[in-house]
Amino acid sequence: MIVVMKPGATAAEISAVIERAEQMGAKTHPIYGENRTVVALVGDLTGVTREVFDEMNGVAQTMRIQEPYKLASRSARPHNTVIELAGGVQIGGPEVVVMAGPCSVENRDQIIEIAKAVKAAGGKVLRGGAFKPRTSPYDFQGLGEKGLQYLADAREITGLPIITEVMTVEAVPMVAEYSDILQIGARNMQNYGLLQAVGKVSRPVMLKRGISGMIKELLMCAEYIVSGGNTQVMLCERGIRTYETATRNTFDLNAIPVLKETSHLPVIADPSHGTGLRELVPSMSRAAVAAGADALILEVHPDPDKAMSDGRQSLTLEEFAKLMVSLRRVAEAVDRSIADAPSAAVAANGAVKATELVAA
Ligand code: PEP
Ligand code: MN
Repeated sequence: MIVVMKPGATAAEISAVIERAEQMGAKTHPIYGENRTVVALVGDLTGVTREVFDEMNGVAQTMRIQEPYKLASRSARPHNTVIELAGGVQIGGPEVVVMAGPCSVENRDQIIEIAKAVKAAGGKVLRGGAFKPRTSPYDFQGLGEKGLQYLADAREITGLPIITEVMTVEAVPMVAEYSDILQIGARNMQNYGLLQAVGKVSRPVMLKRGISGMIKELLMCAEYIVSGGNTQVMLCERGIRTYETATRNTFDLNAIPVLKETSHLPVIADPSHGTGLRELVPSMSRAAVAAGADALILEVHPDPDKAMSDGRQSLTLEEFAKLMVSLRRVAEAVDRSIADAPSAAVAANGAVKATELVAA
């Protein structure tokens, strides 16, 4: 249930509603919107009577939320959640944000070279895995804390905020200390202990859809984090497993408008894991922006064939810079923007070649 406050309801009126709801046994989550505040009531509502609120000062109306994901649902919050990062980067606002970087942080020089190239091409967030969920225990598992330090060095040099995966509850404090966004990987979408742990930190979280996760399940997992107190959650479509073998995963473009419609949380698209094939990444990136994604997360590498993980789906730095030019045009076609991506006019008249956009 939500109690919708009138525009201009006072802090005392909002507190009175919260107090009354808690007396009746509900857990409360105030959601402060641009024009009005909504108090969401969750948990055991058997002792809660709606009529009580209708009489209270400052209350406009009460509404039942049908969806099981109460706090993540658009009914609870009609306005988009906008996540603010260092350097004025906003995810979920009018601008489409491009996050890019290697699948794995491999060494200090590698991540710094990539960070500079990502920034030069208009990328706003640097990605890179330090703790890697690998199918085989014999494959490269990531550099661990050293990798986090290299990411922090790259942030220091370029100013780009960083996103990196956290795989275990124990590592949450350490990864949160280094990073700007915590990534929960597809294999951990339903790791409820981990979701509860990131629900308690004050860092934005990007939650990836599980390999066989339904959209509804993704939203319920986001609900774990939001109901734990961390409202800074982003939902990521990264492809699902189907009978199709032509691609690594089946990138579910449908999920983007479905999530935008059902939730107020920002939606991120990962066409790198979604396709598994570098040559498909540009077209599916453009499709994701056209479908309404708030951000993309892309794997890039200076020499993909030598990458320690996911080289087959990683764009070269030149391919990435070239893609940014067309992404900007697609974003503009759907009334969004990609600040700092080179304009088509600049790229087309040869004034700037894609290779020149890659910083030395
Ligand atoms: C990754 O981002 O490199 C990754 C392992 O992603 P996913 O969890 O979607 O497989
Ligand atoms: Mn990867």
